[in-house]
Amino acid sequence: MPEAISREQLAQNIALIRQRMAQAAARAGRRTEEIALCAASKLHDADTVRLAAGLDIDIFGENHVQELVAKRAAGAYLQKPLHFIGHLQTNKVKQVVGAVQLIESVDSAHLLQAIEKQAARLELVQDILLEVNIGGEESKSGIAPQQLPALLEAAAACPHVQVLGLMAVPPADTDDDANRGYFAAMRRLFEQSRTCGLPQTEMRWLSMGMSGDFENAILEGANLVRIGTAIFGARQYDR
Ligand SMILES: *Cc1c(COP(=O)(O)O)cnc(C)c1O
Repeated sequence: MPEAISREQLAQNIALIRQRMAQAAARAGRRTEEIALCAASKLHDADTVRLAAGLDIDIFGENHVQELVAKRAAGAYLQKPLHFIGHLQTNKVKQVVGAVQLIESVDSAHLLQAIEKQAARLELVQDILLEVNIGGEESKSGIAPQQLPALLEAAAACPHVQVLGLMAVPPADTDDDANRGYFAAMRRLFEQSRTCGLPQTEMRWLSMGMSGDFENAILEGANLVRIGTAIFGARQYDR
């Protein structure tokens, strides 16, 4: 087991990310205040997450329902907003709807309907993002760009779901130009969706950019970046 990361190290990592976010925003002629920092805290324990929650993090993002439920029960996120950012199975929707401010990873009409049903049962409106598989990768979740208009329309017909934007994870290990190309394509989809004028739809968040590429994402218009490794260090997958 590696030693747990200290509060000082976390603070230093977060300060450096904030600095890099500000530089990228300045290069793009944007205000850094309009870009939210989501800490992707999968596989990091409740104590570590709680330390980070006391620092300059806007939002926490979790990928696994069980982890989210356990860390939430342990009070790990303090008063910070919580997003679900992983692949969500319909049989776990009950544990997530109403428990998070935003489900970023809605990637099918089937999942959308399950969220609508549970939100209706709880008499609340669940905010969501639609996840786009912008690189068309077999291994990734997300809808194809061509499916976006239909899913937006399906969501507009769900009174207990509000679409607040788009999320994407582009292919890893591409060069800078290709990486920016994927983000630019997302930006175009975001802008197109913005003009669709559908009810229950308000294109506010463009969630893209991780530890390895968040500056490119900001240069191309992201206003929500999800960062794990650069905040917490490497994840241990063998626990
Ligand atoms: C893990 C994860 C991140 C953060 O990835 P890092 O490369 O560690 O910054 C962001 N988004 C999603 C959906 C993730 O699963």
